[in-house]
Amino acid sequence: MRYAVISDIHSNLEALTAFFEEIKALDIGKTVCLGDVVGYNANPNECVELIRKNRILCVMGNHDSRATGIESASDFNLLAAHAVVWTSEALTPENAEFLKNLPRSLHVDKKFLAIHGWVNNTDSYIMGARDAERNFELMRSLEKPVNLCFFGHTHVPLAYVDAGRGVDMAVGDQVKVVKGASYLINPGSIGQPRDRDPRASFAVFDTKKSLVTFHRFEYDVHATAEKILAAGLPERLAERLKLGW
Ligand code: ZN
Repeated sequence: MRYAVISDIHSNLEALTAFFEEIKALDIGKTVCLGDVVGYNANPNECVELIRKNRILCVMGNHDSRATGIESASDFNLLAAHAVVWTSEALTPENAEFLKNLPRSLHVDKKFLAIHGWVNNTDSYIMGARDAERNFELMRSLEKPVNLCFFGHTHVPLAYVDAGRGVDMAVGDQVKVVKGASYLINPGSIGQPRDRDPRASFAVFDTKKSLVTFHRFEYDVHATAEKILAAGLPERLAERLKLGW
């Protein structure tokens, strides 16, 4: 089975549509989304509807919980908070209800764990080896321990590996998943990449080959940026997309 793992779509319809085109040639059995379907960009309903229509497995992100009123956005910066208010007004009741009911984590086919932030917390960021170490411990202490976990939230594609000698970062665009080691992998962001590369990012996990491969693809970033301005959302949200930041 080949899984596509995506995260942080953030209402970016052009990037999400291009993703579905991109995977046509990749023989994907299932797509899993690590949360933040909405927030920042201008097409929340269209993105939620594509997730629902394509029966994509999805966990809740911090923007999904703020935009649907489960939690308050008082801890968000001004740009993000502005987008949360705009999104909560734009979402249809059905789409808001779908987001509200998303789980905080998913064990996918007993193969891997899908989360947004930390194993035990949607809002926290895995920002370095120390955070990764804590999350490897959390993965081991689960009722059903896992050795592979995909997370989102930072919008930066990378992989942490714990092979018993402390936490390392994997280099290159492929990670071989071997027995006896544990992995925390971020596929990057579909809708708002933040590693100075404006191309959208996702990962493919091939269970037969035990291999995770990172993918990048271009989409019409200028169309997304124009929609942000037309919607009256902050100009900086349009500019950052072009910079990949
Ligand atoms: Zn996000």
